[in-house]
This record gives sequence, C-alpha cells and structure tokens, in this order.
Amino acid sequence: MISYWEKDIFAQADFIVIGAGIIGLSTAISLRMRHKKAKVLVLERGTFPTGASTRNAGFACFGSLTELAANIKEWGEDTTYTMVEKRKKGLEFLRNRLGSDEACGYEQFGGYELITEQQMPHLEALHNMNTMLTPLFGESPFIDHSAYKQRFGFGDTVAALLYCPYEGQIHSGKTMSSLALYAKQMGVEILYGVNVQSLCSDDKGVDLEVHIAPLHSHSSLRAEVKY
Ligand SMILES: Cc1cc2nc3c(=O)[nH]c(=O)nc-3n(C[C@H](O)[C@H](O)[C@H](O)COP(=O)(O)OP(=O)(O)OC[C@H]3O[C@@H](n4cnc5c(N)ncnc54)[C@H](O)[C@@H]3O)c2cc1C
Repeated sequence: MISYWEKDIFAQADFIVIGAGIIGLSTAISLRMRHKKAKVLVLERGTFPTGASTRNAGFACFGSLTELAANIKEWGEDTTYTMVEKRKKGLEFLRNRLGSDEACGYEQFGGYELITEQQMPHLEALHNMNTMLTPLFGESPFIDHSAYKQRFGFGDTVAALLYCPYEGQIHSGKTMSSLALYAKQMGVEILYGVNVQSLCSDDKGVDLEVHIAPLHSHSSLRAEVKY
C-alpha cells in the first residue's frame, strides 16, 4: 500500500520512463526539455542504475578500421558513415549536456588497433576509409603506427598497428551520477527500488503494475499526458 500523499505525488505522471540507465535518463531529460510543463518520472528497479551503463568498459569509440570495413560490406558506405557520425555527435552531445569533461571523466587518449597477419588485407581499405571519414574529423582518423610495434613489445604477433587519436574513454560511474544529477536539476523525478512488472495501455495512457522494494509492496501507476 502507498499512502494518499505518495499516490498523489508519485503514482501518476505525464511520461514514465522505465530504467535509469544512460538511455532512460537521456530520454527523460529530452522529454522534459521538449515538454517543459510535463511531469517526467523515471522508475529504476535498482538502488542505483544496475544495468550496462554502470558496468561497461567506458570506451568512447566510433569503430576501428576492421569493424567499419565489415560494416561497409554489410550496410554500404552511406549507412556506415551516418553511424560513425551519430556516435561522434552523440558523445559530443553527452559531454556538452554534462557541462564538462570532468563530469563524465572523459579522456581522449587515442586508441590502437592491432592488425594480425591474417587481417593485413584490411589495410587496403585504409586510404578509402580515411577519405570517407575526413569530412567528419577534418583529417584522416586512422594513422599507420606500425613503426612503434617493437617499442610496444608486440614482436611478430602483430603485423601492423593503427592509431586513432579520436578514441577516448569515459568514467561510466561518474557519467551516470552526473546524468542523474542533471536530470533532477531539470525537474525529472527518479524513483529507485521500483520494478515495473506489467504494462497495460489504453487510448489515453498506460497503467503500470510495480513492485516497490523498500515497501515490500505492489502498486499501480499511470502515465497519461495531462499538462
Ligand atoms: C559488458 C559490457 C561492456 C560494454 N562496454 C561498452 C563500452 O566500452 N563502450 C560503449 O559505448 N558501450 C559499451 N557497452 C554498451 C553500453 O553499456 C550500453 O549500450 C548502454 O549502457 C545501454 O544503456 P541502457 O540505458 O539502454 O541500458 P542499461 O544501462 O542496462 O539500463 C537499463 C536500466 O533499466 C533498469 N530496468 C530494467 N528493467 C526494469 C524494470 N522492469 N523496472 C525498472 N527498472 C528496470 C535496469 O536496472 C537498468 O538500470 C557495454 C555493454 C556491456 C554489457
């Protein structure tokens, strides 16, 4: 059971987003920006976000030469270019949204792709790939650093070394903590310990059955645009 007051404040919203991972929080923030008067509620089953967003490696990459070469084979150049563009712009968008690189622990150290002997034919794609991506980065993103092979101690196991200065990393914990803080500052309500168990939509909104862990109880919530 939840009280009359709790029900009045927490049990209904214009928009309810399930999950406080990077997608859920970003969606909630965008909804709030687009609909300034709307009540936006995020329901998270964990005591903090407990999905991939806080457990990933934090690589902020847009795809290596061999990955993108495989993507071009499957989807063609236009789709691959658009995907790289979205990855690049998405990262810039997140960094801008959080206001500083410190907020997400972003560091652009660059990254290397190790090319084995069997993968050497992929190097033939280097020139075309750089030409394709130069409009996006302002210069060739992939640079042949094979000269550094011995310095890094790879010996003969690695046939070539490709460097990309645009690869970086984020601190996933910092990012999610900063994103949650930003969402709250934007007026998004985040409830933790609420597991959504079922959804039922009608022509006006959606009813949600939830389990509220701290209260050991079930309850109903409703999302319906009313503002
Ligand atoms: C091991 C691993 C490594 C990765 N490494 C990288 C990387 O280096 N770089 C990169 O860019 N990407 C990486 N990814 C991918 C990236 O982490 C995910 O694409 C991204 O975090 C997905 O975000 P999300 O918000 O969709 O999901 P999640 O972060 O999983 O968020 C979903 C949230 O919803 C909550 N939830 C789920 N069901 C319910 C429910 N019924 N009721 C209430 N709450 C619910 C969960 O508790 C969770 O907090 C990695 C993924 C994994 C798994």
